[in-house]
Amino acid sequence: MSTYFLYAIIPLLVGLFAQYKIQSAYKKYSGIRTQTGVTGYEAARKMLDAHNLRSVQIEKVGGVLSDHYDPRKKVLRLSEGVYNSNSVAAVGVACHEAGHAYQDAEAYKPLVLRSAMIPIVNTGSKLGPILFMIGLVLSSMSDIGLPVAQIGLIIFALTAVFSLITLPVEFNASERAKEWLANSGYLYKEELDGVSEVLRAAAMTYVSAAIQSISNILYNGSRLSAQRSRRNRR
Ligand SMILES: [Zn+2]
Repeated sequence: MSTYFLYAIIPLLVGLFAQYKIQSAYKKYSGIRTQTGVTGYEAARKMLDAHNLRSVQIEKVGGVLSDHYDPRKKVLRLSEGVYNSNSVAAVGVACHEAGHAYQDAEAYKPLVLRSAMIPIVNTGSKLGPILFMIGLVLSSMSDIGLPVAQIGLIIFALTAVFSLITLPVEFNASERAKEWLANSGYLYKEELDGVSEVLRAAAMTYVSAAIQSISNILYNGSRLSAQRSRRNRR
């Protein structure tokens, strides 16, 4: 119970808290209009143009907080609630995504590394747990089980590495957004503080995802070593 609590319940609570924070911050600042009336689209467009990124298109995408920058297609996609909205939250989110386009244009190392890892992680996150479970089951009957489980865990651990590399990418995009907005003259001081609050809450969700991912690896690692010592005793 105690190890399970440590590895599962705590990350779960952190995750729920992060979800609550982003939802409440987003809700609060979605209801506050920027005094200049600038929309998410306009702010992101200006920010991109200021960095000579006129070729980066901005598209609308369905969903809530589904906003993202696609480095392969060089397209910035803003959700309905951000694209046309002139709320403080919308401008903050839109400029954060433009921050990712800045990173891409400058070949910002953590972003390059993160993009390169995506295909490997996509496969690893499916293959790793399967190999791990097969290895664990096999280990009670054969010597090959433990090494298979170990390989599975290592492949699976790439998802944790990925979630850690995501952190500087996200924090840095928010820094770029705040810096540009502070100099743009589009937002007043209190509005900039609102942007910071929304982006900080959004960053929390990435921190909690990283905590969950690492805990998962640690938990499965502890299962593996427990199984190993069971085998050694026999
Ligand atoms: Zn981001």
